[in-house]
Amino acid sequence: MSHSISDELTALRAEIPEGVTLVAVSKFHPVEAVREAYDAGQRCFGESRVQELLEKIPQLPDDIRWHFIGHLQTNKVSTVVPYVKMIHSVDSERLLIKINNAACDTSRQVDVLLQLHVALEETKFGFTLDEINELLGTGLLDRLNMVKIRGVMGMASNVDDENRIRQDFMAIKSAFDALKVKYFADDNDFNIISMGMSHDYEIALECGSNMVRIGTTIFGEREY
Ligand SMILES: *Cc1c(COP(=O)(O)O)cnc(C)c1O
Repeated sequence: MSHSISDELTALRAEIPEGVTLVAVSKFHPVEAVREAYDAGQRCFGESRVQELLEKIPQLPDDIRWHFIGHLQTNKVSTVVPYVKMIHSVDSERLLIKINNAACDTSRQVDVLLQLHVALEETKFGFTLDEINELLGTGLLDRLNMVKIRGVMGMASNVDDENRIRQDFMAIKSAFDALKVKYFADDNDFNIISMGMSHDYEIALECGSNMVRIGTTIFGEREY
């Protein structure tokens, strides 16, 4: 039986609670697949590679909201900022400043999430909560008025142990809560907790996620 993108989307939407944003992660899948999801009503898509994103954008409708979810090198920032709604993967002060500068150049504010590293794997990117406290404690944000920090993003450890996955998601949620109280209490726009992928989004939702990034469940396995 062939994989139906629109059936998978319908099933997912039925499962995901109201108020949770579904980012359809289309990396490594062709524009035809994105088009199929678009025709099924999906408007929010995630990509993790700059080149692939820039190739896809002109071939697809311009009301798509593109989310950049992969590691972003500072020298590529100015090429993506004009086209993306949100960058999930801010993992250094330098990157944040670059995004702000690029946003100034295009006169277009960009939403960003601070990526938290809570997983076991050292290879994953992201800040610790202490590092975010250091970053925000400097008052840097007051000078960066073209980036809007909307919340946090994180990934759980790549393990089968559901307890460990849950522990990671709880750590991301509690980091969000701590930052909210400390720096964003009056900012209603600091309200996004991006966590959960195909194999663990159910646990992420139980732990308070309100933005899930799902690829394989919708589009099938990627061919690298
Ligand atoms: C690829 C990717 C996803 C989607 O993963 P699936 O397992 O295909 O759902 C989510 N988040 C990030 C950061 C990714 O790179």
